Amino acid sequence: MDALLERLRAGLPAEALITDPDVTASYAHDMASFCDAGTPAVVVLPRSVEEVQHVMRTATALRVPVVPQGARTGLSGAANASDGCIVLSLVKMDRILEISPVDRIAVVEPGVVNATLSRAVGELGLYYPPDPSSWEMCTIGGNIGTASGGLCCVKYGVTAEYVLGLEVVLADGRLLNTGRRTAKGVAGYDLTRLFVGSEGSLGIVVKAVLALRPRPPQQLALAAEFPSAAAACDAVCRIMERGHTPSLLELMDRTTVRAVNAMASMGLPESTEALLLCAFDTPDPAADLAAVGELCKASGATEVVPADDVAESELLLQARRSALPALETVKSATMIDDVCVPRSRLGAMIEGTAAIAEKFGLTIGVCAHAGDGNTHPVVCFDHTDPDESRRARASFDEIMALGLELGGTITGEHGVGVLKKEWLARELGEVGIELQRGIKSAFDPLGLLNPGKLF
Ligand SMILES: Cc1cc2nc3c(=O)[nH]c(=O)nc-3n(C[C@H](O)[C@H](O)[C@H](O)COP(=O)(O)OP(=O)(O)OC[C@H]3O[C@@H](n4cnc5c(N)ncnc54)[C@H](O)[C@@H]3O)c2cc1C
Repeated sequence: MDALLERLRAGLPAEALITDPDVTASYAHDMASFCDAGTPAVVVLPRSVEEVQHVMRTATALRVPVVPQGARTGLSGAANASDGCIVLSLVKMDRILEISPVDRIAVVEPGVVNATLSRAVGELGLYYPPDPSSWEMCTIGGNIGTASGGLCCVKYGVTAEYVLGLEVVLADGRLLNTGRRTAKGVAGYDLTRLFVGSEGSLGIVVKAVLALRPRPPQQLALAAEFPSAAAACDAVCRIMERGHTPSLLELMDRTTVRAVNAMASMGLPESTEALLLCAFDTPDPAADLAAVGELCKASGATEVVPADDVAESELLLQARRSALPALETVKSATMIDDVCVPRSRLGAMIEGTAAIAEKFGLTIGVCAHAGDGNTHPVVCFDHTDPDESRRARASFDEIMALGLELGGTITGEHGVGVLKKEWLARELGEVGIELQRGIKSAFDPLGLLNPGKLF
């Protein structure tokens, strides 16, 4: 430990190092707080690429594991510390280095908060689409680490589609540039894409070139109430089948609606079994909403309420963004699934989840990025009750098994972390895992980067 601190201090200012165990302990966890985490030896908050390189050279020389962190809003334990590790928090590297309206790119450091970037590019008439519900807190480095999605993905796609190039500090401290800042580019293997979703296991992202779009018109939303989740899912299928391009298509079940009302007094309709939120940022959103409203009614919607204006639409979005924090208040703990299925199987996924909740005698609230087929069944349980905790984990696993059975994936956007490690092997199979391990060891032969995650 002394040798580690001495070497780190040689290349870092004093304020970049935290050694007080009470403070370092607070960096042990991301927001999947029930996942195991170790005790960090030290937390480092670098401000420059050179400082990150110094940390990685030190870690390699002394064989010390390194856990990169952004804002620690992750939901799979992917940023959890391991015993004796260096926690490398990138939050102080938070400069927007360039915004180019001509090239339609932004160049940023990894600690820039998602909403800060969105607002900065918005002032120039541009748009950075990926918008996780945690956008006011989470960082671009963390978004790249988890390949995060969000509310607008149904129209604009996920983080991977917006990362054009990266600057990465490798495990041994070398600097790697991947990708491009051009509109096109196919030179060599696509290492940029490989880093997106790699959960800090291949290198430390210290700079990112991100694609921007022209800012679309402000979106208008509607809320539709359904007598069952199956009816709401039928509406989702009709909307997509007819070729509509909503900028948001989200679902909240009854448990979620009630939790949001209880936490934030949003006045959502509590008698509904499922609430569908749909928005358009097209030239004539009112016409698109009217057409979608008819499709909802054809699927059995009992009430279709278009928002009066942009402000009311924003309130509906706010309600959806509150879903996870609200469900967290239902019991003392939650496990948040992230299963994504082909959207044609969404109804089966949600019905199957209800059956699993009944089988295990648990409350499982479901909110979903319905237009993507990406469900977030939230298992609510009392973590002080061993039997309920066991049932919670069992139901969490059955939900992933159901997702795979329906042709889906165990994680649409939250990542594997420590929470779904055994399930990654099931999804990828033996050959897939073997190749992924080979890639990991090509980048990180000593296994120092975020050990114990993914595999
Ligand atoms: C209320 C709430 C709502 C959420 N909604 C969504 C949502 O809609 N969509 C969604 O996708 N996610 C959502 N999330 C999950 C979470 O916010 C995202 O996974 C987010 O991308 C994590 O960013 P972060 O900065 O907190 O990263 P962290 O949690 O700190 O880290 C995430 C991963 O990235 C790695 N990492 C971080 N920085 C770097 C770096 N510079 N270089 C290399 N690796 C790095 C870490 O090691 C870790 O593996 C939500 C979370 C909460 C709490």
